[in-house]
Amino acid sequence: AVIEQAKEVEPTINSYVTLDEEVAYAQADEIQKKIDAGELTGPLAGVPVAIKDNMCIEGQLTTCSSKILSGFKPTYTAQAVENLKNAGAVILGKTNMDEFAMGSTTETSYYGPTKNPHNTAHVPGGSSGGSCAAVAACECYYALGSDTGGSIRQPSSFCGVVGLKPTYGTVSRYGLVAYGSSLDQIGPVAKDVADCAAILEVIASHDEKDSTSIERDDCDFTEALVEDVKGLRIGIPRDYMGEGLDPEVNQAVMQAAKVLEEKGAVVEAFDLGLVKYAIPAYYTIAAAEASSNLERFDGVKYGYRTKEYEGLHNMYKKTRSEGFGAEVKRRIMLGSFVLSSGYYDAYYLKALRTKALIKREFDRVFEKYDLILGPAAPTTAPELGKSLDDPMKMYLGDIYTISVNLAGLPGMSIPVGKDSKGLPVGMQLIGNVFDEKTLIRTAYTYE
Ligand code: GLN
Repeated sequence: AVIEQAKEVEPTINSYVTLDEEVAYAQADEIQKKIDAGELTGPLAGVPVAIKDNMCIEGQLTTCSSKILSGFKPTYTAQAVENLKNAGAVILGKTNMDEFAMGSTTETSYYGPTKNPHNTAHVPGGSSGGSCAAVAACECYYALGSDTGGSIRQPSSFCGVVGLKPTYGTVSRYGLVAYGSSLDQIGPVAKDVADCAAILEVIASHDEKDSTSIERDDCDFTEALVEDVKGLRIGIPRDYMGEGLDPEVNQAVMQAAKVLEEKGAVVEAFDLGLVKYAIPAYYTIAAAEASSNLERFDGVKYGYRTKEYEGLHNMYKKTRSEGFGAEVKRRIMLGSFVLSSGYYDAYYLKALRTKALIKREFDRVFEKYDLILGPAAPTTAPELGKSLDDPMKMYLGDIYTISVNLAGLPGMSIPVGKDSKGLPVGMQLIGNVFDEKTLIRTAYTYE
């Protein structure tokens, strides 16, 4: 059914970079045999999933929606995907994204933009726009995305689906093409909270192949699917609800907060400090790490190589000039600059210190509240073609999501209504480290 649906809507939505029907059906047959033999019994057995195209799958095209990875087929599979396969998931294909996950609209993709299924004149958000649009358009039952500064939560909000970024270290990053390694985290995108919890339960695992992977014994996330928020202390940051926030988004989020209050939660407003430092700190750190991570794409080992060149350095230069898009080049230049000798202390180190202060600020807040509630993004999905010529404005749109990555916290976006144009609004729930369960319980109770 999802393949038929994808065939129908893909010419307009463009959620997928790769959708291999034959491979999917072959997997489904194998899995069916195992289900029939009683070897696969879990809730994800036989359920088709779409994977963001920055996660490696052995022998299958992995492009990060970049020209520079054209034709690249990894020799191994990402651990999160491996976990899904072991649970019997049918992998449908790879979803479109902003190039190397840098962007907020999925318009920086080399394979053309994805459209928002709720209104195809609008973007689906990004960078996991393909995954979120695929779920929203019923082109899969759920998907994996990655979130460095909001890339699961913001497109989930724009597409009216549920997306969760777990605590840093919960899902292995092995096989995820690195963007900002100290911020990147894989997470589920689904139609509802219960699906989200079931998927996270499967993809979360300790993995020695990722040195930042954490050993947790509390990954039974479906246990949190209970309707109960009585006495739960919810804080709403005033700094998130003021200037720059679309009034319709404000209204929908406050309405949802009221629903939780009626169900027994204690909701109050508070001042979250350091909010204005989150964007400069994030873009300094993310760009620095990206410039280092993207060094490996030089035309030698992966994907694209320029056709004509004179000598090795000229080959590197031409390959990278031709292979990377404008936004990626901007980040590489910014990152190289903040890491360069003489500027390292002034920019990169200062950003790391700011990151530590932001984490401390959240620690202070979680002494008082169990959960933070706010919008996932300042607006609903913008129109296609309106964001790329003003990168600064696009970066400012990440204001509510990026500090969550800087502090390594779990965050979730759930749909709470639509604006007057019919575009979905997402509410973001932010939890203390390792407290996905409170997010899941609260979201489930709201839903
Ligand atoms: N929009 C942010 C950026 O461009 C976040 C992207 C992400 O989370 N991958 O960096």
